[in-house]
Amino acid sequence: MRLLIMGPPGAGKGTQAAVIAQLLGIPHISTGDIFRANVSEGTPLGIEAKRYMDAGEYVPDGVTNAMVRDRLAQADCGPGFLLDGYPRTVEQVGELDGMLKASGASLDRVIELTVDTDVVVGRLVKRAADQGRSDDTEDVIRRRLEVYAEQTAPLIAAYQSRGLVVRVNGMGDVAEVTSRVLAAVGVDG
Ligand code: AMP
Repeated sequence: MRLLIMGPPGAGKGTQAAVIAQLLGIPHISTGDIFRANVSEGTPLGIEAKRYMDAGEYVPDGVTNAMVRDRLAQADCGPGFLLDGYPRTVEQVGELDGMLKASGASLDRVIELTVDTDVVVGRLVKRAADQGRSDDTEDVIRRRLEVYAEQTAPLIAAYQSRGLVVRVNGMGDVAEVTSRVLAAVGVDG
């Protein structure tokens, strides 16, 4: 199964994506996690990405697309994948279409997780304290929500017009949301 999970920062995408990918036996590919791993290892990619991440901005498409292209070309993605945090821009949608087309594959579903903005800000502030994420100060959180609304929310409309979007209420405990997601993608929990 080839899935995308979308939703504002703090909607619980990462948590849900990890659980769902494990249940479905497909790799969970989080561009944010890959960037963070590069930042902590101090790789050239990490040094480049950190500048943008710390400001709440998106890493440039060229850098991000190349990274995803490499990852999707790995053998474990053959049977499917769950992409978390990509695509985030119109250009990235086109790139992903091209990558899939080249391998004769297509997306099965786009999961949209919905949450209240107040809840999202609260979750992000708590996560910043728990994980020491430098991209989760209050100003940066606000900027990340703005960037999401400007650049990423419109992508959902694009996928909607292809009939791929399943909308899932992201409020509630983790297990509850997981069951909703599984039901929405047509898998028995
Ligand atoms: P996330 O953990 O998915 O919220 O991502 C954390 C940060 O990594 C984002 O705020 C961006 O700076 C960067 N990032 C992750 N995915 C992408 C993407 N698809 N395009 C551009 N930047 C990204």
